[in-house]
Amino acid sequence: MPAHANGDLATSQLSGNIRSIRDRMEAACHRAGRQPQDLRLVAVSKTFPAEAIREAFEAGVRDFGENRVQEAARKKPLLEDLNITWHLIGHLQTNKARTARELFDYVHSIDSFRLASKLDETPRDPGDRLPVLLQVNLGGESAKSGLREEAVEEIAEGVSRLANLTLRGLMLIPPFFEVPEQSRPYFRRLRELAARIEAGRLPNVSMKELSMGMSHDFEVAVEEGATLVRVGTAIFGSR
Ligand SMILES: *Cc1c(COP(=O)(O)O)cnc(C)c1O
Repeated sequence: MPAHANGDLATSQLSGNIRSIRDRMEAACHRAGRQPQDLRLVAVSKTFPAEAIREAFEAGVRDFGENRVQEAARKKPLLEDLNITWHLIGHLQTNKARTARELFDYVHSIDSFRLASKLDETPRDPGDRLPVLLQVNLGGESAKSGLREEAVEEIAEGVSRLANLTLRGLMLIPPFFEVPEQSRPYFRRLRELAARIEAGRLPNVSMKELSMGMSHDFEVAVEEGATLVRVGTAIFGSR
């Protein structure tokens, strides 16, 4: 056995983590009669350096999630040679909407109509529609951002009238349960809410994305229809 530098060991661990998550995602897909190509792994790289993102990219990941605009602005220039799809998954302040629009390919965390209108104001090119998701706070937890379930349909209607956004789905962070199975009713409710909005046939709205599932509960989320699975700790380690 050749001696490995520490960096190599870390890399092989990262790619091992990714492989095992992909296997588990695929198994969950099969249990639910879904196709693995209908879901994407979004590696949540917040707090980890650009070099870790590069290693995950080399292990085949193409989608990365960051929760802070400034942190993404720092790392992204170091990775311009990679064809990465960037997802904003954290709360966005309206005064950072312009920068967020420049940095990200998807915004999962729309939690007010005001924020959606701000993002609408600065398209990269005229008529360029940024794909966005509405974040829903189904647990009604005051410490978490996200729209109340009752408000979602009205906001979807408002977003459908904006010229430079396209509504693609919903995002959820359910209340934390030790037992992931307990998240299942929340994942299901998000899927049903998305289906209700889809049935409204609003212009520029195609509710095909469900951003749900994290390190501890992504298998249940996949069984319930997740299309964007946001996994951090299980890939990069604890923060
Ligand atoms: C940090 C974060 C994740 C990843 O959580 P892990 O438990 O580390 O997998 C997913 N979604 C959001 C919105 C996050 O902020």
